[in-house]
Amino acid sequence: MLGRTTERRDVMGIIATLTRPWAGRGTFYGGVFLPAEKTRTEHRPIESLPIPERLFVPLQHARDETTSPAVRAGQRVRKGDVLAAGVEPDTVRAHAPAAGVVEALATCDTPHEAAVPCAVLRTIAEDEARPATASEIASIDDLAAFAAASGVVGQGRFGSNVAARLRAAAARGCRPLLVNAVESDPCLTTDSRLLTERPGDLIAATQKLANCLGNAKAWFAVDRDRRDVLRSLRASARDAPLRIVPLLNKYPQGHPHLLIDAILHRQVPYGGIDLDVGACVINVGTLALLHGALTTGQPVTHRLLTVTGDAVLRPGNYRVALGTPIWCVLDAVGLAESPAAVIAGNPMTGIAVRRPDVVVTRRTQGIMVLGKTSANLRNIDEPPDVCTRCGWCLDDCPAGLDPAALLDAAERRDLRRAASLFVHACLGCGLCSYGCPANLPIAESIAALRRDVPPPAPRTHRTATSESAR
Ligand code: SF4
Ligand code: SF4
Repeated sequence: MLGRTTERRDVMGIIATLTRPWAGRGTFYGGVFLPAEKTRTEHRPIESLPIPERLFVPLQHARDETTSPAVRAGQRVRKGDVLAAGVEPDTVRAHAPAAGVVEALATCDTPHEAAVPCAVLRTIAEDEARPATASEIASIDDLAAFAAASGVVGQGRFGSNVAARLRAAAARGCRPLLVNAVESDPCLTTDSRLLTERPGDLIAATQKLANCLGNAKAWFAVDRDRRDVLRSLRASARDAPLRIVPLLNKYPQGHPHLLIDAILHRQVPYGGIDLDVGACVINVGTLALLHGALTTGQPVTHRLLTVTGDAVLRPGNYRVALGTPIWCVLDAVGLAESPAAVIAGNPMTGIAVRRPDVVVTRRTQGIMVLGKTSANLRNIDEPPDVCTRCGWCLDDCPAGLDPAALLDAAERRDLRRAASLFVHACLGCGLCSYGCPANLPIAESIAALRRDVPPPAPRTHRTATSESAR
């Protein structure tokens, strides 16, 4: 039966390669139109949540970035003061989200990692902030250095280092700039609110970045069902040399590889990134952060996140100080019942939060709180069954993989077979697990496989591009 699915994949792959029927239609192969679960929050304006009495501010953004504390226990800090900095120029700095006293240098747990170095900050009710600093941005190097010093990181699921990406994009001569404003992730609505509330700022930031990338052509990808947003963006971009591209809101359209496929009709090579095909993708939330830091001269100390779920009394889009414990967020928005599950991120790729003292970081896109009768709990409760070879995961996989065969390889610990099945092409979208009628943990098994299978050698292959895409 496994052979049948593999044969089917080959046939599908040949047909897809020959015809590419989705190309040029504002979409990509595979994917799913998920039920709209954004109605709870998409019309709620962005609000700031109160600063809690104690913040646990992570001092490093990623495990592979080394930072040293710039403060000591007992030191008084102003809002925006540097708490930690790195030796490398692109290391993301940590700043104080509020004035206060550093009680201790300790560790905290985040949704993605345990025991992250942090500064425990007892906040004080004074509005004492570091004076704003003006920055002259004349080149991409200036912009990259500014992003790292201001703590700007990618606001997408991966929380990429913006400074490093900008330098790499400039070094490789990546010209098309693609802004991801599709927000295909279910339940998250902060990008949608930014588009509604700040279209002019986003267009200005896109132009600034495109200029720094050597007058790159800019494409602004938006959900084509958001006609109000399309209208306001078009009005704001009337004189700007950029193109607004309406795309079908099929999950996971926001993934950089799929955005490039839908707009430029280029395919990122196996194991590669967007820069390998000469394009630079940036999330609209990241643009908003860059613009905010450039215009105010203040570093990034808060994260925009969507708090939603049927157990939340006041769902909405909130500006939350970095280092706020998740229980403080839930306390502020109110709960209708004791939660059955708390998920950091979206229901497709999010991480279950098991302890309330886990803190909000630069990578926390949202918090979803499920009640005991939530429809989204269905899969969590049901035990896995055996694979029925129904082929749904194969049909949905946007990377064109055979998730059932990869699951089989994971269960047998057959790393060689996993490599031959292109395990590193997995986008981590979670669709295979979502649609599996046997409730098998396919995406999780594939993620574990990816950690064990050596990645393919880096390639700088550049595919042919259609003239219309330029
Ligand atoms: S969706 Fe689940 S049951 Fe169907 S082929 Fe894939 S792994 Fe098997
Ligand atoms: S998680 Fe990976 S294997 Fe599963 S559907 Fe997404 S891209 Fe395909």
